[in-house]
Amino acid sequence: MPEQTFSYVVIGGGLAGASAIAGIRERDANGTILLIGDEMHLPYDRPPLSKQLWFGKSKVAEVFLHDQAYYDQQGVSVVRGAKVAKLDPGEKTIADAEGNRYRFDKLLLATGVTPRRLDIPGGNSDGICYFRTLDDYLSIHSQVATAKSALVIGGGFIGSELAAALNVSLEVTMIFPGTHICSRVFPGSLGQAMQRRYQERGIYVLDSEMPVSIGKTASGFVTQTSGGKTIQSDLVLVGIGTVPNVDLAQAAGLAVDNGIVVDEFLQTSHPDIYAAGDNAFFPYAALGQGMRIEHWDNALNQGKWAGRNMAGAREAFTYQPYFFSDLFEFGYEATGLVSPKLETVTDWRKENETGVIYYLADQKIRGIMLCNVWDKMDIARELIRKGESVSAEALHGMI
Ligand code: NAP
Repeated sequence: MPEQTFSYVVIGGGLAGASAIAGIRERDANGTILLIGDEMHLPYDRPPLSKQLWFGKSKVAEVFLHDQAYYDQQGVSVVRGAKVAKLDPGEKTIADAEGNRYRFDKLLLATGVTPRRLDIPGGNSDGICYFRTLDDYLSIHSQVATAKSALVIGGGFIGSELAAALNVSLEVTMIFPGTHICSRVFPGSLGQAMQRRYQERGIYVLDSEMPVSIGKTASGFVTQTSGGKTIQSDLVLVGIGTVPNVDLAQAAGLAVDNGIVVDEFLQTSHPDIYAAGDNAFFPYAALGQGMRIEHWDNALNQGKWAGRNMAGAREAFTYQPYFFSDLFEFGYEATGLVSPKLETVTDWRKENETGVIYYLADQKIRGIMLCNVWDKMDIARELIRKGESVSAEALHGMI
């Protein structure tokens, strides 16, 4: 079998993988780099797939992080459409499904996540879109011109963003088990207010329900729900969470928990193998706990950080990533531990529209969501990093 040797091998052609190249090149101008990914596209940005592209605010050609000329200039060999099937940490080689082998000095696992599948009759029927990739966007976009209706399963990030996007031209139904949309990040009052806005826009929202089967019809799908309803739709899109891609790491004997375990240098349990992005379970310094974060800003910065460390920097990852979403006219940015399972304190300037949500544990700020409040992320990060005890009253007007 053919074998090639590289100073750096990056598995995963997403944002974390592409960012690692920039990190490596900050410290090593000459080391050879292989970027290998299973998609046919060059690395691209995912946020526009469920947001800007649908509203004419971006074009497909603009989602790519770089063109081929960039990778050529950086001296990066890019292999697309290849699934890495084996990692041998002792030999320091990887092999793809075709048997091509690549030897590495340093390896980055930026293997991302896979959409979770519905474990119900018909859950794997042809045409159901487990929305994640650019090809998913292209496929759904091409069908929207002739479709009239869509069922969106899941009310988290993908579900809430896609429902808002598809609402422009289709009759949209949403279904999810929680009591309101985005129930994993919004406190109840905000989630319910947002849900009312979805309903006012004509979106039929089935909360507290699950799909129990999906059948195919001549023109689309028929979905039965746990509440006994029958939903006919031309399209079915699913966003019910993801599973981190840890198989390679696990089979290679690397430490795996909720993701591939890395230390503060983003190094796995093997000193020459790093992990970054959606699949990395890393020590979140400002929170003093392990986290795995599936958001754009984390992939961007962690990927770059890992690249620098692979090239010898040895800098602890102390960055505090943020995430963002736009749901109609409601836009937010958030950082830290953003979970309504914590105590939440809201400081609204306009209720459920403009203001700040604090997520507290033991009277300390663990997470902050800035709702239609902009350019305050660094203040939010600092408040979390300080970790001082605060009273709920003191939070009013703090940002
Ligand atoms: P998610 O945000 O975790 O949401 C999962 C949703 O699926 C929840 O609404 C959940 O309902 C629902 N659900 C779970 N099991 C279900 C079932 N059997 N039937 C129906 N609904 C079910 O995951 P996601 O929306 O799939 O997003 C995937 C990843 O992409 C996330 O990790 C996210 O970070 C990332 N992403 C991020 C952004 C952003 O940062 N703006 C945008 C898009 C995607 P309950 O909560 O009610 O249980």
